Amino acid sequence: MFSKKEIKVFKTVGFKITLWYSFSVLVILIVSGLYFYYRLQHVLNKEIRDILLDESEDILQHFPEINLNLDSLKTEIEKETFSGKFFKITALLYDIEKKSIITSVNSLHSPLKISEKTINNAINGIETFETVKPKDSEYNYLLLARPVFQNNAPKYLLLMATSLKPIYKTLENFGDNILLIMPGIVIFTIIGGWFIAKKSLAPVGYITNATKTITALNLHTRLKPTYTEDELEELTNTINLMLDRLEDSFKKIIQFTSDVSHELRTPLASLKAGAEVILTKPRTAEEYRELLENNLLEYEKVINMVNDLLVLLKTDATKQDFKIVNLGKILHELYNSFKLLTETKKIGCSVDKIEDIAIYGDQKLLYRLFSNLLDNAIKYTPPDGNICISLKDLGNEALVSIKDTGIGISENDQDKIFDRFFRVDASRSRDTGGVGLGLSICKNIVDLHKGKIEVTSILGKGSIFSVTLPKNHHNC
Ligand code: ADP
Repeated sequence: MFSKKEIKVFKTVGFKITLWYSFSVLVILIVSGLYFYYRLQHVLNKEIRDILLDESEDILQHFPEINLNLDSLKTEIEKETFSGKFFKITALLYDIEKKSIITSVNSLHSPLKISEKTINNAINGIETFETVKPKDSEYNYLLLARPVFQNNAPKYLLLMATSLKPIYKTLENFGDNILLIMPGIVIFTIIGGWFIAKKSLAPVGYITNATKTITALNLHTRLKPTYTEDELEELTNTINLMLDRLEDSFKKIIQFTSDVSHELRTPLASLKAGAEVILTKPRTAEEYRELLENNLLEYEKVINMVNDLLVLLKTDATKQDFKIVNLGKILHELYNSFKLLTETKKIGCSVDKIEDIAIYGDQKLLYRLFSNLLDNAIKYTPPDGNICISLKDLGNEALVSIKDTGIGISENDQDKIFDRFFRVDASRSRDTGGVGLGLSICKNIVDLHKGKIEVTSILGKGSIFSVTLPKNHHNC
């Protein structure tokens, strides 16, 4: 029935908004039209009742019931009863006993049929309104029957009637006008609604098309602000902020990939060069052995680096195994396992104030964090130097400090040491086996635990690495 394009239009927000507004306007028009129609009918009916009551009152007020004079009553009826162009009152004087009409002004062609109930009401002294339909008239009449008393007894009935034609005509007119303007208003709403919906949703089309064109190659592209100060401007800003973050992550991934390739190339090139040199001529078994031993060291560096990268990946993207861990126990174990190394390097190592502090964290990662820091302290502290490990309870947090009297880090480099692949002195660092990933792993682990890692260092004097970890970090 409908083509695909037409069905697509029906599903648009613009179409739905327009439809909803038009439908609402139509309902409002119908409800308000009906309300005003019935209100007008009520007001006009009341008006006519009041006129009939006033007129009858004007006539009857001159006649005290004791000395009712029929002739002057007739004269008064003729005098008071009026006949306007649009409004004509018919007045009749009805003798209750004789059951006949005595006087009539502006009488109708066919007699008004008065109901028994109205006459009985009048006999009981009650005035009554009644809607009657004379035979020769197209419209109903409103009839007011009022008793006229003589000697305390109802003697006559003063009947006043008027056609309801003006009311019917006015209501008809009102209804016609409403029906006439209703389609106009609805059409106007549809056109206006569609125009406004199209205009205000126009930026959505732009946002959709512009977003479709953004790929990894033009991630720097940003959507133009709409300056509409509405939800669409907020959406544009949100998409732009998301693009900022994506571009940033993308740059970091590219940088990381290039750093990793660069770092891997050096040991691999050295392995290749060694093999090439040794193969240039026949060698003794001793020479082959020497090459393989050298190669083993390079392999070890590559394996260490790949392991570090895997830990980085783990702290970046995978779910951690968080539970209650004893920080004091971890530090004691590390102290014991590094003891031999420090002794070999003739470095003094002590533990200061280590309490049993339990925190919520990943045991393996925390082990890795402090082992990296201790390993660095040993690496960058010359013989006869000192290393001190301490753990303090700060209430909601635990503070671990690893202090050394090593070579220290210049103020300039202190900000950079937590970056991936950063080494203060690349050539010396390579000798010590590091590729500049140790501290960035530490930083990642501390971030995962919602903690803080800081360094205070004086070049040539030593460094203190301080790690603050919250005890109850449950939302990891
Ligand atoms: P690496 O594996 O090369 O040691 P890290 O990320 O662990 O890499 O450290 C980055 C750099 O910070 C190191 O190259 C080193 O120069 C410096 N550094 C780290 N710890 C210490 C320390 N305790 N004393 C002096 N320098 C340090």
